Amino acid sequence: MTELTQDQKRLIILISNFTKPAKKRNEEETWIKKIPLLALVNRGIHLGVFEGYDFAPSLVDYMGTSRYANVSKEGEDDVADLREEGYIERLKLATSNHVYVSAYMSTHSGIKLAGSLEKPHHDAVDKLVKCKCGSPKSIESREDAPYLVCKKCGSEEKVDIFDIREVAYESGPVFSDIWLPPDSTK
Ligand SMILES: [Zn+2]
Repeated sequence: MTELTQDQKRLIILISNFTKPAKKRNEEETWIKKIPLLALVNRGIHLGVFEGYDFAPSLVDYMGTSRYANVSKEGEDDVADLREEGYIERLKLATSNHVYVSAYMSTHSGIKLAGSLEKPHHDAVDKLVKCKCGSPKSIESREDAPYLVCKKCGSEEKVDIFDIREVAYESGPVFSDIWLPPDSTK
């Protein structure tokens, strides 16, 4: 395949940190659902982990409700590319209200690839993955948003993907008086 971009490398490292394929039959697998993954990608954009990604509000289904979330189209495209290369696998899960949600997991070749990538990429992704206490964090879907949780020291933080105010503020039009109809000042 063509060489992975920096963002693709960091994405496969990120996904490999939160998922685990089974090594033998009946062994438990760990998958990450699409919204928690997109939430981590969004957080990674703010922390400078993903330098080529942007995000925009998009309507998503989260725990049975439709909500606007900050979604990175580039991140989604890279997930699709990594899947095409066989580094990640997708599972479609039917929810109780008959909506399909996707979940992702690194394949064995994805885990191997992640392990072979340069240290600076791992260090960058650690910003999303590692707790201040040094332990790996896990991600939990809760009613209001996904949360990063450290089971060792008990610290937890909300991963904001539904807070679209910042985008609205940055990209919103700036109205000055000249744009207002004459009688609007009354
Ligand atoms: Zn901790």
